[in-house]
Amino acid sequence: MADKFDVIVIGAGPGGYVAAIRAAQLGLKTACVEKWVNREGKTVHGGTCLNVGCIPSKSLLETSHKYVEARDEYGDLGISIGDVSMDIEKMMARKDKVVSQLTGGISGLFKANGVTSLEGAGKLLKDKQVEVTGQDGESQTYQADNIIIATGSVPVEIPPAPMTEDLIVDSAGALEFQEVPKRLGVIGAGVIGLELGSVWRRLGSEVTMLEALDTFLPVVDEQISKETYKQLTKQGLDIKLGARVTGSEVRDSEVVVKYTDSEGEQEQTFDKLIVCVGRRPYTDSLLGDDTGVELDERGFIQVDDTCQTGAPGVYAIGDVVRGPMLAHKGSEEGVMVADIIHGEKAEMNYEAIPSVIYTAPEVAWVGRSEQQAQEDGFEVKTGVFPFSASGRAMANNATEGMVKVVTDASTDRVIGVHIIGQHAGELIAEAVIAMEFGSSAEDLALTCFAHPTLSEAVHEAALAVDGHAIHMANRKKKS
Ligand code: FAD
Ligand code: AMP
Repeated sequence: MADKFDVIVIGAGPGGYVAAIRAAQLGLKTACVEKWVNREGKTVHGGTCLNVGCIPSKSLLETSHKYVEARDEYGDLGISIGDVSMDIEKMMARKDKVVSQLTGGISGLFKANGVTSLEGAGKLLKDKQVEVTGQDGESQTYQADNIIIATGSVPVEIPPAPMTEDLIVDSAGALEFQEVPKRLGVIGAGVIGLELGSVWRRLGSEVTMLEALDTFLPVVDEQISKETYKQLTKQGLDIKLGARVTGSEVRDSEVVVKYTDSEGEQEQTFDKLIVCVGRRPYTDSLLGDDTGVELDERGFIQVDDTCQTGAPGVYAIGDVVRGPMLAHKGSEEGVMVADIIHGEKAEMNYEAIPSVIYTAPEVAWVGRSEQQAQEDGFEVKTGVFPFSASGRAMANNATEGMVKVVTDASTDRVIGVHIIGQHAGELIAEAVIAMEFGSSAEDLALTCFAHPTLSEAVHEAALAVDGHAIHMANRKKKS
């Protein structure tokens, strides 16, 4: 038996690496097992988020957005820059550099905090032992008092559209195109599909999105999702709702996709097809016999509110357990579990986890939508403020969208905030803090916001809950 640790974390994505660093900071002897290897065969930390998720997608979204601004919008501002062109190779090289800086950064943080890095595939054995098998096939077994499973998720594959080398790809493949596909198909108009569709649309692809559901973005407040649909279709994303993909065929260098919609069987041909139909928890080859760790019917590791599995001292966090598949959710769970292992009473507020779609405009929300609040039996009161009435939004040439505050009318407590607009992903942070501190709409309304900022729209939406927005004709006068 090799070394014994206080904590062994399996998986170094944003759930696992944060848990490992926190545990080490608290003085616990910590190791983190990771099996991800890059093209050069070197172990890399950071998981889906840093390697093929949040970070590379945001790098491409930022570049493609700047390109569209320069091409289509600078003229309106009086800036002439002549012909604008894109260098895809350079865009990809920058993206790769950002990724390698950040993944290298995690390895550096492990060293700085004294986290032992174990390279290879981890397997949980009974009695809190972890077997680590390296790329050379050699195995070593380690003992720990506590184990944190953070093995994340992988893209779902569907039989009608099996992956190919380079024509039918998942989200990771869509971050690697070397040229702009003329006709791009995207199966699934969820968050990841919309972001990747936006990148390639901005760079010139004709993008068709095939979404099986009749409702666009059902997780988002209806008023906001309608506005999002309007804005994204205006940019040229052809979003077909109620379109279920039933088959695909690769012909030469094209993909023919078959789908059904309200009018029957349809067919469309693409140069590339991205499959973005969701992600599944990843536990392949993870669990040995008699570990006491159970999976639910959808394959998620079963945990309680504190991420404890059925086996005492074995925890699971991040995408591999219930809850939204978001990097920051996994990281917060990692901090909570490390604190619990250290003997503190820690908990997480699952009601205040923000979500962001990094399209342009961005869409961000926290808490309940108006419809969810009604379903949950709240007497709902809302306040909406459009960015078209915001001085800063006008100065920024970004007047699309709105802020919507949802409150429990009986207490005035803020139970949801929903934003579509420029920098919505940054603006939502103040709503998260307000909700974390149990703020009422009046608390927000009585808070001083800097002028001129986009955040004033949050202030105005809170004022609008009671019909008192300053820069808008209100629904009702003060009684
Ligand atoms: P992961 O990041 O999946 O990490 C799990 C790690 O465990 C991996 O490194 C894996 O190699 C390792 N592992 C698995 N099994 C073993 C084993 N047996 N032994 C050793 N190691 C193992 N989320 C956001 O919050 N914001 C975004 O903007 C965002 N954008 C995204 C864009 C895309 C294109 C994608 C695909 C995802 C995006 N996500 C985003 C989701 C986010 O990436 C995930 O929620 C997050 O990475 C989950 O973190 P995790 O630590 O649970 O798992
Ligand atoms: P998300 O879970 O947010 O990543 O979104 C994935 C989307 O893919 C969901 O909205 C699903 O309805 C959609 N989807 C799943 N299977 C199919 C299919 N065969 N054809 C079209 N859309 C699909």
